[in-house]
Amino acid sequence: MSWLRLLAALAAAGVSTLASATGFDYRLQPVPVADGVYTLIGKSENFSRDNGGNIVNTGFIIAPGGVIVIDSGPSKGYGEQQRAAIAKLTGKPVVQVLLTHAHPDHVLGSQAYPGVPVASLPATTTTLTQSGDALLGNLYRLVGDAMRDTEVRLPNAEAHDGAVTIAGRKLRLIAARGHTDADLMVFDETTRTLFAGDLVFFDRTPTTPNADIPAWLTTLDAIDALPFAALVPGHGPLLRDHAGIAQTRDYLRWLRDSLQGAARRGLDMPEVLQLPVPERFRHLAVLRTEYERSVSHLYPAYELDTLPTIPRSKPK
Ligand SMILES: [Zn+2]
Repeated sequence: MSWLRLLAALAAAGVSTLASATGFDYRLQPVPVADGVYTLIGKSENFSRDNGGNIVNTGFIIAPGGVIVIDSGPSKGYGEQQRAAIAKLTGKPVVQVLLTHAHPDHVLGSQAYPGVPVASLPATTTTLTQSGDALLGNLYRLVGDAMRDTEVRLPNAEAHDGAVTIAGRKLRLIAARGHTDADLMVFDETTRTLFAGDLVFFDRTPTTPNADIPAWLTTLDAIDALPFAALVPGHGPLLRDHAGIAQTRDYLRWLRDSLQGAARRGLDMPEVLQLPVPERFRHLAVLRTEYERSVSHLYPAYELDTLPTIPRSKPK
């Protein structure tokens, strides 16, 4: 069969050849976490044209009455391929999308679920309303063609802290903060799977552009106390222990102490950027880039904190 005839046959069968000819293939492979619970593990990299923005973990739960999606990924194309990956495993429709927080790699696939309620914490919706287009523009710049046709779809439902039953599945929604000002975690009571969003990173350096480190450390203690059997971090491999919590805590404490110490010593930002990172963190993916971003985001506040001590004259 000639290519032309093949395309004509596909078109006659209602197959869109345009999307398959030009769309970015994310090659999504659902990883089983527990009975009816899956995660899609993204790459531990920076955003790039090669990864199409898929640096994120998303997930879904096949509930009695339909499928609950946790985070919709970085683009419309990702969301569509996530939906297709779900359809290969179950004939049940997606009935709910839950967004963990406002970062673009987690939320920009929501367009793939028209008519399905998309819920987030109210502050997440506020952030996406105010800054969604800027976040989107940034991803177009970093990722390029894989973002094609992606627009911000704002959440149309509110998630709140507490027990809920969605599609016949008992979930505990946990409203927290620290990575951003609104971080939603989803705990599946049936399998004791915790979708921790970006409150937990594993073997991938935490990102801090909207972080409140003291609040984040407090939240990590609360996560440590949860009775989970599996933990899906926002970035990095699936966990069945507390190692990701411990690693995220260790890194954030070091970052805090290091920046505080540097500010007290009066180092300027270029000097802080040159500080060595301890050996135990050197295996973390994208370490140097994230460390530099963290210094540029966070250091000015640590410097401000030291201001009251500056007027004292130094002994000569
Ligand atoms: Zn994030």
